[in-house]
Amino acid sequence: MTAVADSTPLPALAPLYRGRFAPSPTGLLHAGSLATAVGSYLEAHSRGGEWLVRIEDLDPPREQPGASVHILATLEAFGFEWDGEVVYQSRRHALYREALQALAERGLAYLCACTRREIALAARPGVDGPVYPGTCRPGLPAGREGRAWRLKVEPGELGFVDRLQGYYAQDLARDVGDFVLLRADGFWAYQLAVVVDDAEQGITDIVRGADLLVSTPRQIWLQRCLDVVTPDYCHLPVLVNAAGEKLSKQTLAPAIEPASAAAELRLALVRLGQAPDPACQSVAELWQWARANWRLDRVTPAPVPVV
Ligand code: GLU
Repeated sequence: MTAVADSTPLPALAPLYRGRFAPSPTGLLHAGSLATAVGSYLEAHSRGGEWLVRIEDLDPPREQPGASVHILATLEAFGFEWDGEVVYQSRRHALYREALQALAERGLAYLCACTRREIALAARPGVDGPVYPGTCRPGLPAGREGRAWRLKVEPGELGFVDRLQGYYAQDLARDVGDFVLLRADGFWAYQLAVVVDDAEQGITDIVRGADLLVSTPRQIWLQRCLDVVTPDYCHLPVLVNAAGEKLSKQTLAPAIEPASAAAELRLALVRLGQAPDPACQSVAELWQWARANWRLDRVTPAPVPVV
């Protein structure tokens, strides 16, 4: 047997678990986004993994000025610690372009000339808006210019087992239709950017809000089209207000304040089914307790009312 010389470089080991939190700076963090951040952070820690933060700033018209800075400052004030540098989607256009080009070269993506109005007139409703009727799939109609890029989907059940929500499936052709990768307004679609980034960053486990469950089959399809690995998924319950609406900027969820970090953190843990020790008063004590006691099997899959 030949001894391995001390100087032999060891192959880089891929992490067993790498999670992430990926807020869009369309508003400030609220109780709902905090619960998602807490759940994904604690799951990553309990699995001995890494936890990355990625700012999804790909939709400037919807962004709130200063929100990215505010979100990161709030995460810091709440005691989150992330691995590596924060990644900004707005600086990664080249990666998305490369992915689109690869899909187009393989005949999987095509230019679409349809307007929103034309689609609304021709389409039937799907699980997340109208099902694109495939008008431009055979080629652009004569005299029309391409506005957006779409990905071809195929009929058949596409399902996966979510660690919290169980089996979830869609038939993309029936429920969604060929979906947008590059929007008519020139901005990258969330579906493309998120898949490219999760793959490029080596994310193994995606823990996020259950409002995104409806997007996951599209993302798995894209992963298959791009020949990248499908991570494990865990969709945490969304928090809902008294009217049953998801807490969001649209439903006027108030921003969380660093001044009440301990109280907010405790509430987030309780909403995720954990029972923090009443003796833990400070943010540091709560994190210490939570890191030692986090249990995903205590989290309910159903929406959590915020009273
Ligand atoms: N940026 C998305 C949001 O804030 C989350 C994306 C994801 O976790 O996949 O809703």
